[in-house]
Amino acid sequence: MSRLEKLYEGKAKIVYATDDPDVYIQDFKDSATAFDGTKRGTILAKGQTNNAISARLFTLLSEAGVRTHFLGLDSDTAMRIRRLEMLKVEFVVRNVVAGSLANRIGYPEGAALKKPPLIEYYYKDDALHDPLLCLGHLEELGVVTPEELSEATAMARKVNQVIGGFFADRGLILVDFKLEFGRDRDGNLVLGDEISPDTCRLWDAETKEKLDKDRFRRDLGGVEDAYAEVLRRVLAGGTPDWAGD
Ligand code: UDP
Repeated sequence: MSRLEKLYEGKAKIVYATDDPDVYIQDFKDSATAFDGTKRGTILAKGQTNNAISARLFTLLSEAGVRTHFLGLDSDTAMRIRRLEMLKVEFVVRNVVAGSLANRIGYPEGAALKKPPLIEYYYKDDALHDPLLCLGHLEELGVVTPEELSEATAMARKVNQVIGGFFADRGLILVDFKLEFGRDRDGNLVLGDEISPDTCRLWDAETKEKLDKDRFRRDLGGVEDAYAEVLRRVLAGGTPDWAGD
């Protein structure tokens, strides 16, 4: 499928139009940013890795009945996706305390949650630096209808069950992750964006080693190796024991 004009270039992806108005191509980049774009760098082969991981997870999700924008691979670093009108809200699903939640509620990173998953809503607004929103804020802004909110929240829970189990079978704890949803031409709510170590926290189940973008954010080293390890496990069949590998 041929790429036409570039429609959007973000921190980690470029989206192109195609000759089909309902199909776009999203091309994953090696560049990485953190802390609201103030930290920048390159993670070698990240584009390829995140494309392959996202493709596998979107396929798994659609097999489980979750509508996603994934249509098929286009190249090593790119996938064909359905055109969506994106909601201006990001959904963060949390199974274990980490990152900004640790700072917000004062629990140590790694602490258990009483009733996981805990779901948060963030406003997609660069000028406001994507703030956390409460239900009253969502209602005031009108960025999602109550029906969209409950449908997207239910989808986020389903995604958590499906990919959480998949990662667990591969010796990985799905600590937290971010999802973005949109509406397709027919008005269906559809999962968009990506699911990768850029957007998920993944810890080795045995050692609790971080195998995600926190290695970049926190200068832990071994970033490329961590992404490669996640890809290896995602592409492998599930096995109960990774420890002896
Ligand atoms: N996340 C993301 N994009 C964002 C913000 C967060 O993909 O713009 C993901 C992040 O990788 C993590 C989860 O959402 O898996 C929760 O992130 P958190 O709120 O803890 O923010 P952080 O401390 O990572 O900035």
